[in-house]
Amino acid sequence: MRTCVACREKKPKKDLVRILLNDENGLTVDLTGKKNGRGAYVCLNPKCAEKLNAKMLSAALKSSVSENMIKEIKASLEDSVKDKQCKQD
Ligand SMILES: [Zn+2]
Repeated sequence: MRTCVACREKKPKKDLVRILLNDENGLTVDLTGKKNGRGAYVCLNPKCAEKLNAKMLSAALKSSVSENMIKEIKASLEDSVKDKQCKQD
């Protein structure tokens, strides 16, 4: 079980998306869950994606995350959430 950084609920890994921070690419959505770097988990739920902010992610990743990075990651999270929900239906 992993904790969603937005709602703090514990959920199975398959219900969450991994947000990855590494030196190469900065903040990205890791759909494989296997890439190297620091990771934080968020529910596959648009509400949690919306709630995300720089403070939450900075704390979860123990690294400073800028508002700009949050904007970008939220946009790609929303895409991934839509994508995954379509596939699950
Ligand atoms: Zn959540």
